[in-house]
Amino acid sequence: MYHPGECSAQTRRFLCPIFEAPPVTSTIPIRYISPVFRPPSEADSLILPVTNGCSWNRCTYCEMYTAPQKKFAVRDEQETLDSIRLVGEQFAEKVQRVFMGDGDAMALSTRRLMTLLQAIKDHLPRVRRISSYCLPRNVRDKTVAELQELRQAGLSLAYIGAESGDDVVLQRINKGETFESTRDALDKLGQAGISRSVMLLNGLGGRVHSMRHALNSARLRPKWQRGL
Ligand code: SF4
Repeated sequence: MYHPGECSAQTRRFLCPIFEAPPVTSTIPIRYISPVFRPPSEADSLILPVTNGCSWNRCTYCEMYTAPQKKFAVRDEQETLDSIRLVGEQFAEKVQRVFMGDGDAMALSTRRLMTLLQAIKDHLPRVRRISSYCLPRNVRDKTVAELQELRQAGLSLAYIGAESGDDVVLQRINKGETFESTRDALDKLGQAGISRSVMLLNGLGGRVHSMRHALNSARLRPKWQRGL
């Protein structure tokens, strides 16, 4: 089982699917609430908090958002819009990627996400990639048409913490998802043209459930690969 505390900082920097960003000391006009996490591949991105914490926050192994100040909340829309505008005034020429934090920005309604994506477009015209973490349950109530709207507005990549495709393992870690719910979400995002980066945790099945963890996780692969 994965325990964040067992990784050295160096190992976590390069291997872990999440990385605790160092405290922001620059003049970026955004109110960050530490700790802030992002995928390693977002090292050069503007981290834009649109929520605080994780809306689920119950996985047995996860300590990312357990500090009291990280209790889940949607960030005030006006504050986020002001942050985008202020960043644009200072860094419009530099920002090319935006990662919307925290644990699952996709918990926001489509309307609210569209407003934020439009503001990014208006104030940060050089942005080429917008991404966020996404729990399968975040897209359950969003239609493919809504996801396509988000894609057209600039949301191009979702990081899905599937962890496993096996229902027994998912239940044991209290993920709150199943193989079906995860695969449905991946298919929906794919139909909308949003790229998916899927995180699976090696060893999560332990010795007893190792084989089913591996086999059922492999069944999460995209539709076009399933016939192979
Ligand atoms: S969904 Fe992700 S961030 Fe939330 S508790 Fe589970 S592992 Fe942690």
